[in-house]
Amino acid sequence: MNSRKPSLVWFRKNLRMEDNRVLAAALVRGTPLIPVFIWDNSSAIGRASQWWLRRTLQSFQKEFSARGACLILRKGDPLEVLKVLVRETKADAIFWDRAYEPVQRKQDDRIRAAFNRQKVICHSISDALLFDPATIRTKQGTPFKVFTAFWNHCSSLTEPLEPVRMSKKWPLPSRLPRNESLDDLTGTEHEWTKKLERFWKPGSQGANRVWKRFLKEELNHYIHSRDKPAMEGTSRISPHLHFGEISVRRIWKDVRQSMARYREPGFLKEAEAFLRQIVWREFAYYLLFYFPETVDQPLRKEFSGFAWRNDKSEIQSWQEGMTGYPIVDAGMRELWATGWMHNRVRMIVASFLVKDLLQSWQKGAHWFWDTLVDADLANNTFGWQWTAGCGADAAPYFRIFNPVLQGEKFDPDGIYVRRWVPEIYGLPNRYIHKPWQAPEEVLLKASVNLGKKYPLPIVDHDAARKRALFAFDRFKRRR
Ligand code: FAD
Repeated sequence: MNSRKPSLVWFRKNLRMEDNRVLAAALVRGTPLIPVFIWDNSSAIGRASQWWLRRTLQSFQKEFSARGACLILRKGDPLEVLKVLVRETKADAIFWDRAYEPVQRKQDDRIRAAFNRQKVICHSISDALLFDPATIRTKQGTPFKVFTAFWNHCSSLTEPLEPVRMSKKWPLPSRLPRNESLDDLTGTEHEWTKKLERFWKPGSQGANRVWKRFLKEELNHYIHSRDKPAMEGTSRISPHLHFGEISVRRIWKDVRQSMARYREPGFLKEAEAFLRQIVWREFAYYLLFYFPETVDQPLRKEFSGFAWRNDKSEIQSWQEGMTGYPIVDAGMRELWATGWMHNRVRMIVASFLVKDLLQSWQKGAHWFWDTLVDADLANNTFGWQWTAGCGADAAPYFRIFNPVLQGEKFDPDGIYVRRWVPEIYGLPNRYIHKPWQAPEEVLLKASVNLGKKYPLPIVDHDAARKRALFAFDRFKRRR
């Protein structure tokens, strides 16, 4: 309180003003604040994430301007940039949100060690999660590897922290350090990301709108709708949550408040199902915290050394949505067009890649990383390892999704498939998930040109399933 030297508030994935524990802690200190964002080239985010980040920073800058403040943008290695900023501003404290990704955790240790030597106070504050992974263990002292046990444990704890009220008073420094322009930071954007503009509004305002709509209109039938890719039955809050444009505590509290208000058992079930998804996210971060090597190594070591195939043309067909399986192709095209894919379809396309095509889960994770606007190291790694059967609490290796049955079950009227695979639009529902079974006259009537405009299946699912089971079985026996 007695120091008038400024504090640096280093924003990372907490790009919001509301319920921001890092900002709140810096405000309590009472000294002038210098908010900073560092574009870290080494963090290698994907192209869709870059598109998002650029826009959310634009929107965040406007929020600062509205308060008479300025978000300082810099580019480079965070430690080096922070050293320069401390020198330029004479700041004697740095506040930032704690990271859980392996590279960033190492970075944090380096930063803390360097500034401790310089007597600059470092506060890294846990802001992104409801439950701090470091405090959660089984009775035996080991990390949880089963979701239900993790969920039960979290449910037995006291409620997560409440959202914090933010002071509107901002002590501003008399002089600001040099600012870089967003254009200089981000470089040129890839052509295909332009179309994302139609689907998303990055920034806190967009996040709040998406969240309020879901809370009001969708939460009360979440269980029924969440597995139907043709419906807007899930929140689509994932990219906003990833960049911290809305806090997970706020989401939790809003749902809890709705539960307290409408005590009807049906609604309580729907709301709890949604909270479980939020805790899946916690679980994914928890696993990344305890098993950082899982970013590229299977958590279940017995899967190391599995001889994945490497067929570039099959991978390309998968990426382009040209496998001949309509539900798989619809998902991959939705991803390419919008930067997002429905969770049910993520599971189907991932299963198809690692089981039907026997391509490594790392290749799939890499493509998702580049093209998802919600690309998130914890959730993506977890989702892929889960599907491949090599992660914690994973789908067993012998569970192989049948893309036809999955399509018929979760998109029975073919609405989703027709939206993204117009080449087969005219087919009757009976054949929409298996066009190759349609008789010639049905194809003709529907103007579907199989093998020309839309491909025949690149693999036969039954044969591919047998091949995968054989490969996994043989591998297990050899070990
Ligand atoms: P909702 O159903 O509304 O759920 C609300 C929130 O809960 C989500 O925003 C997300 O933060 C969390 N959540 C929901 N399902 C899961 C889950 N299975 N695992 C972890 N958290 C979950 N999610 C990402 O955010 N980033 C990724 O990079 C990512 N990659 C995935 C890769 C694969 C192969 C799979 C199978 C899943 C992946 N997921 C990922 C999880 C999930 O598909 C998305 O979180 C979800 O589709 C986001 O849509 P939503 O916000 O409408 O979800």
